[in-house]
Amino acid sequence: MKKSYRIALLFMMPLLTSCEVHFGAKSYDVPWWAVTIPTVLFCTIVFLFVGKGIASKLYRCPNCKYSFHPSRWAIFSVHINSNRVLRCPHCNRKGFCSIARDGEESK
Ligand SMILES: [Zn+2]
Repeated sequence: MKKSYRIALLFMMPLLTSCEVHFGAKSYDVPWWAVTIPTVLFCTIVFLFVGKGIASKLYRCPNCKYSFHPSRWAIFSVHINSNRVLRCPHCNRKGFCSIARDGEESK
């Protein structure tokens, strides 16, 4: 269900873009792809780099204290500062996981 929602959202993105660009007091008519292509490229680059940064960090489960690296999809998870709502791969419970200190990786 969640995956189909994401795929539908991806195809609806071009429909949500405006074809009238306002820059200062002037407005310009531009083709839809002139707005969509840079937006999709920007979002993809941000997803790749920020997702890689999040996946490289070690998070700790609040329930079982297991430390794990989340996937790149953790970029879309709810977060407050660096704490993120993630599903623990060990106990399979969702909760606010904080970043574990270096050298505390669980087995
Ligand atoms: Zn856990």
